[in-house]
Amino acid sequence: MIEVLGANKYFGEAHVLRDIDLTVESGEVVVVVGPSGSGKSTLCRTINRLESLSSGEIRIDGAPLPSEGKALARLRAQVGMVFQSFNLFGHRTILDNVALGPVHVTKVQKARARKDGLELLERVGIADQADKYPAQLSGGQQQRAAIARALAMRPKVMLFDEPTSALDPEMVNEVLDVMTELAREGMTMVVVTHEMGFARRAANRVVFMDAGQIVEQDTPDAFFTRPSSDRARDFLSKVL
Ligand code: ADP
Ligand code: MG
Repeated sequence: MIEVLGANKYFGEAHVLRDIDLTVESGEVVVVVGPSGSGKSTLCRTINRLESLSSGEIRIDGAPLPSEGKALARLRAQVGMVFQSFNLFGHRTILDNVALGPVHVTKVQKARARKDGLELLERVGIADQADKYPAQLSGGQQQRAAIARALAMRPKVMLFDEPTSALDPEMVNEVLDVMTELAREGMTMVVVTHEMGFARRAANRVVFMDAGQIVEQDTPDAFFTRPSSDRARDFLSKVL
């Protein structure tokens, strides 16, 4: 579903992604972990082309990433992204936030988009918040709305970049539960997170990054019980 081949990214002199090769199969849940600054967000952002690569290639379903125009808008619909900061439109209701993309990007009829949107809000447990504005919701509810908004575009892949890092602790689980359910339903997911419990529960594979490289990748059980590199052991000793 996702193929990252020999990917390099420079910001000026800084070599932020170093020869990244990563394949994600359809229905697979890959959790990306690693220290701050290791390139996890940059990797996510290159997969839906919020950042371009300096060299290398990324393919989704066999097709190279488009760089502009309508094809890029379609790619962004196919590859949903959820950020740490929920990025909802503040002056729109929750239901509008979920229905606007389908209406404007994929040309779904407004009534249809609102009906589908309500079903998605139901699915993430906040249908009762549909007519409120983002600021009236808790952080956990806003993040669930952001997930519903991405799902409204019927993505093939969902990218999550530290989706619970900005939340009060008591709201982390309500978001992780939605993500766990999504994984169970077979969504292809790449998840950057420091929630090691989620990684153990939901991941098919854990990818450990450090200093722009993929240092190791393994099943959660193998990674957490017998990491093979010193760098991963050092990282785990700090986060577990
Ligand atoms: P992580 O998500 O693992 O914390 P990032 O991908 O955000 O790491 O960042 C990797 C490195 O790239 C860091 O050194 C960061 O400062 C740098 N970086 C990220 N985005 C930019 C940017 N837009 N311009 C310059 N440097 C950046
Ligand atoms: Mg990051």
